[in-house]
Amino acid sequence: MYKVSSEQFVFSMSKDNPAVLSVPSGSKIVFETSDALDGQVRSESQSIDTLDWGRVNPATGPVAIENAKPGDALKVTVENIEVSGDGVMAAIPGLGILEADITEASLVVLPIKDGYIPFSSGISLPFRPMIGVIGVAPSGDSVPCGTPGSHGGNMDCKLIAPGSILYLPVFHPGGLLAMGDVHACMGDGEIMGTGVECAATVTVTVELIKNLNITDPMLEVSDMIYSVTSADTLENASKIATRNIRDMVASKMNIDKNTAGMLLSAIGQLEICQVVDPLLTVRFGVPKKYVWE
Ligand code: CA
Repeated sequence: MYKVSSEQFVFSMSKDNPAVLSVPSGSKIVFETSDALDGQVRSESQSIDTLDWGRVNPATGPVAIENAKPGDALKVTVENIEVSGDGVMAAIPGLGILEADITEASLVVLPIKDGYIPFSSGISLPFRPMIGVIGVAPSGDSVPCGTPGSHGGNMDCKLIAPGSILYLPVFHPGGLLAMGDVHACMGDGEIMGTGVECAATVTVTVELIKNLNITDPMLEVSDMIYSVTSADTLENASKIATRNIRDMVASKMNIDKNTAGMLLSAIGQLEICQVVDPLLTVRFGVPKKYVWE
């Protein structure tokens, strides 16, 4: 078992970040992660002006996987997420899809109990921990951890949770895996720009899949497989995810693209991950038997 402390972090994903650890395929790794605001919110009465926005979205790592090369993929099985401390949510003018409606900032600090999160006026939120930021060094220039892309990053996909398997394309030797931004609960869309942000201890197993040649992250949840893609609009992200899955289905099932497209039009699931980050993220899913076994 390997462990990476939350004091070993990056604010951007880049091939130039030195690995803090190098591990063989099949390793179990514990990542201690800070919350997306780097623990800066300690009280609901704190002014939003006290926050240093240069400190958002720290990701713990990066960890190199031995022998990972471009064209390979990291198979990251999320074994467990334990949260620590309280959760934080915010309403901030200019943040989220209702940005114009928010005239003053609010911060809430939420205790995280065993299996639920007391919210407000007798309302409880379910405890559904997930990883907001997880990715590898991108193919090109460095990308801030707050931005998603083909390398993963700030996908804010609520299905990246215990029991799920994330496949990340490798663009540089070692891959350089980093993660952070755990939410104790988050809805599809993350419409105000925050989930229940919290520090956490994430346990994953990382395996190397040689020559998988995926272009974007893939996510396996139960019997479904998704392509998780990010672009400047939901429409453009949807086109990329749909095309990725259509091409894989056509190849696996040995059917033409029109037939694969009609199959997906009948049973595919196009879902929104988030609409609040610098690029927007969707996932397109299909039963995995049509893509790979
Ligand atoms: Ca996020």
